[in-house]
Amino acid sequence: MTAQVGTAENGTPRVGRVRIGLVGAAGRMGQALVEAVTAEPRAALAGGVDRPGHPLTGQPLTGQGMASGVTLTLGDDAAALAAVSDVLIDFSSPRALAANLALGVPLVVGTTGLEAADHAAIDAASQRQAVLQSANMSLGVNLLASLVRQAAARLGEDWDIEVLEMHHRHKVDAPSGTALLLGRAAAEGRGIDLEARSVRVRDGITGARTAGDIGFATLRGGSVPGDHTVIFAADNERLELSHFAQSRAIFARGAVAAALWLAGRPAGRYSMADVLDL
Ligand code: NAD
Repeated sequence: MTAQVGTAENGTPRVGRVRIGLVGAAGRMGQALVEAVTAEPRAALAGGVDRPGHPLTGQPLTGQGMASGVTLTLGDDAAALAAVSDVLIDFSSPRALAANLALGVPLVVGTTGLEAADHAAIDAASQRQAVLQSANMSLGVNLLASLVRQAAARLGEDWDIEVLEMHHRHKVDAPSGTALLLGRAAAEGRGIDLEARSVRVRDGITGARTAGDIGFATLRGGSVPGDHTVIFAADNERLELSHFAQSRAIFARGAVAAALWLAGRPAGRYSMADVLDL
């Protein structure tokens, strides 16, 4: 199955638009991205692929409310899609990352659950091409991260930091990539190493909390697209900074903004802070 190049609803080519290809196009975010790319006048949907053997392969790439007359179908050949794309957006699986980086096209990575080896692979690839990775593409969360960094820099170790998140019942990784992004922002503000100071799980007789640790708590259920609260708790007072995503559309919009920003950039590793100028 090869990806097809998009045409506008009236059949004329989308000249001058940035051609965006989607990896993981059959997924929840993939569907939101089909709509977001189609709605963006500066972008043209180059096509979408999912894993080989996906039952929707060959079916029309339709997000809810997608403009009629768009005739692209779901493919499984990422290299063919890369050949007709100026930039790719990947919301699939960490297992797909290495192959997507090898395609040699500017890549927006929204997939979460990345390990240290995945980040090393992104660093290596960004020596030869533009790569933007963010565990959360929304303006609100990226601004929140900047506020968390500031608060952590101001408040001393007597303010315990806890990150609480809730997501829909289908989410496969925990804590969420966004919770880790917020924990990292807090750790940077405080000048500590998150890996050395994070407490991911508490169960049984854990002993008292160690001052300076950053704790994580995870809730799963229903259809929640993503709630995050960073709690700064001192004796007799508590500060809470929260973000509530009400729709996946915010991540899709952010990812499309990232793709438009990334297309044509020189090699390097970029983040949403670059796109949003935070
Ligand atoms: P999903 O399971 O609905 O969709 C993932 C899709 O990727 C599926 O259709 C799956 O078949 C496909 N896929 C798996 N392996 C593949 C491969 N090798 N090649 C091509 N396609 C492959 O999940 P989702 O809710 O859409 O989330 C996808 C990812 O995006 C998750 O890691 C999630 O945590 C992350 N996410 C990130 C943000 C952000 O702002 N960065 C926001 C929401 C979700």
